[in-house]
Amino acid sequence: MLALERSSSYFLAVTEPNLLHPGVLHAQGEEQAALHERAAQAARSRFGRRVFIRGVVEVSNFCRQNCSYCGMRRSNRGLARFRAHHEQLAELLIHHRPASVTDVNIQAGEDPIAVREVVLPLIRTLRRETNLGLSVCLGNLGPDLYDELHAAGATFCILKFEIANPARYAQFEAPGTFEERIQTIRRLAQAGWHVSSGFIAGLPGQSDDDLAANLNLAQQLPVVGCSASPFIPGDETPLSGAPMSDINLTLNCMAALRLMRADWVIPAVSALNLAQPGSGYGRGLRTGANLVTINLTPPDLRGDYVLYRRDRFIMTEERILQSIASEGLSPSAQGLAEFCRLGKVNGFHRTNSASPL
Ligand code: SF4
Repeated sequence: MLALERSSSYFLAVTEPNLLHPGVLHAQGEEQAALHERAAQAARSRFGRRVFIRGVVEVSNFCRQNCSYCGMRRSNRGLARFRAHHEQLAELLIHHRPASVTDVNIQAGEDPIAVREVVLPLIRTLRRETNLGLSVCLGNLGPDLYDELHAAGATFCILKFEIANPARYAQFEAPGTFEERIQTIRRLAQAGWHVSSGFIAGLPGQSDDDLAANLNLAQQLPVVGCSASPFIPGDETPLSGAPMSDINLTLNCMAALRLMRADWVIPAVSALNLAQPGSGYGRGLRTGANLVTINLTPPDLRGDYVLYRRDRFIMTEERILQSIASEGLSPSAQGLAEFCRLGKVNGFHRTNSASPL
């Protein structure tokens, strides 16, 4: 039986009293193993041993934003910028996608030109030619552009709030203002999108209260999922000299998210393997993640899609299938978009609009 408890600054759903202490996000050893096992059990109670498999295509690395933690920030003059051709991507996704992929996420820097010239035509083609679930991760666009994307057939939207502390949000030059970001998440959910959000764990100077604020904000937003990503100091960013996040912090955040919400879609992000090469991704899957992503970006483009470093760890179909098999998991036949659509019909995605934000 899950019970919600509020400790001094944490608001977590946990199942065992010995996990109720402010240091739970810094749990190590046996305490951490128990936390992660509880999270994995919570995921299994709702999803069994199935994980959603989506493909991602990265369609533009132009970005009008300037986040301090990202290599694609507009001030990075060392990056060769590209926009993909929608015909090439459509051919790839219609005729050459892995059989396990049920959904496609179309991702870019915040680049409204790419949305018009690449993303919208690609979505229209995929909607006409396939039954794939269609997700977008394109930044804070205006309402009209999001309406067009929805009308074209995309139903799932990723908009991470990144940092729940407004002052720190501004300090790291995260997109627009914190208030705008939260308003956009709420507006998208109101407009019928299934929204997933996310935050960064282990940013330089992040306090325990900042971490707790991330969890509390995630809990309050009208979202169907949330990610926790480890801070990776990007080579071509102002934070290149900062220490990388301890992966345990990210994994403990993922476990806390899962214990807050058994029904959420929580991805294992590829950066887990940068934070702990070789085993980070598998540990994420053992911490209640239920979404994996195969990178389908054409090889000639993905070298310049540099969120962190040029030596990216690409999650290919082979790596993904090996990872989930070695954790005793298997691909979900039901797609992510379909799961969300049915969830909305059945009402099991609780949303909370009571927040003053
Ligand atoms: S995190 Fe996103 S919005 Fe920020 S600079 Fe990178 S691509 Fe642009």
